[in-house]
Amino acid sequence: MTDRKQELAANLAKVEERIAAACEAVGRRRDEVTLIVVTKTYPADDVRILSGLGVRHVAENRDQDAAPKAAECSDLSLSWHFVGQLQTNKVRSVVGYADVVQSIDRARLVTALSKEAVRAGREVGCLLQVALDAGEGGRGERGGVSPGGIEELADLVAGSEGLRLDGLMTVAPLTGAYAGRQQAAFERLMDLSTYVRRTHPAANMVSAGMSADLEQAVAAGATHVRVGSAVLGVRPGLG
Ligand SMILES: *Cc1c(COP(=O)(O)O)cnc(C)c1O
Repeated sequence: MTDRKQELAANLAKVEERIAAACEAVGRRRDEVTLIVVTKTYPADDVRILSGLGVRHVAENRDQDAAPKAAECSDLSLSWHFVGQLQTNKVRSVVGYADVVQSIDRARLVTALSKEAVRAGREVGCLLQVALDAGEGGRGERGGVSPGGIEELADLVAGSEGLRLDGLMTVAPLTGAYAGRQQAAFERLMDLSTYVRRTHPAANMVSAGMSADLEQAVAAGATHVRVGSAVLGVRPGLG
C-alpha cells in the first residue's frame, strides 16, 4: 500500500467507527446511514484510492474542480454528489456527471437543471438545501431555501421532467438561533423532512453532518453524512 492509501484507509476506518458508534448510541442500524466523502480540493488520485477502499459516494462543491475529476474517474463505480452553491451557467456541466445535486435552493435553478437533464437524457436526484439561518422567504448566507420556501420548491422539483426529488440537505448554521446547536438544527431538518414526505413519500434522504458534527446528525436521524477533512485531511485555506 502507498503511504497515501494507508493514510486514507486509516482515516476512513476512524470515520466508520464514529458512524457505527453514533448509530449504536441511538439504536439505529449502521446501514441506515450512508457515508459521502467530500473530495473537494483533493486530486482524482485520491478519489481513485477511496474507490478502491470501498467508498461509493463522493461529493464536490465547485464545478471547475469537479468536472475534470469526474471525467478522470469515469471508469469507477461512484455516485457523484454536487453540494456547492450552483450558478445556472454551470448547470449543463454539472448534469454531465452529477447523480445528485444537494444544493437546490431556487426555482430558476430547478428550471435550468430540468432543461439540461432532459437534453442529456439523464435523471438527476435533487435535495433541497435548507437554510436554517434564513429569514422567512429569504436565502441563507451559504445558499439554501428558508423553511417557508420548501413546499413550493419541492412541488416544482417533483413536477419537473428529468429531476427526482430525493429529500433535504442542510449545513449547520454558524449564525442565528441554531448557531452552535447542531443537533437541534438537524432535528429541525428531520421535522421538515417529515413534512415534505407527507406529499412526497419517496423524498426520504436527509443529508446532514460533516466531519465535526456527524454524531449529532446520526442522532437526529440523518440518512447521509458528508465527511471531508476527517477522511482526506484538513484542506489548506478555504474550500
Ligand atoms: C466541505 C463540505 C463538507 C465537508 O466538510 P468537512 O468539515 O471537511 O467534513 C460537507 N458539506 C458541504 C456542503 C461542504 O461544502
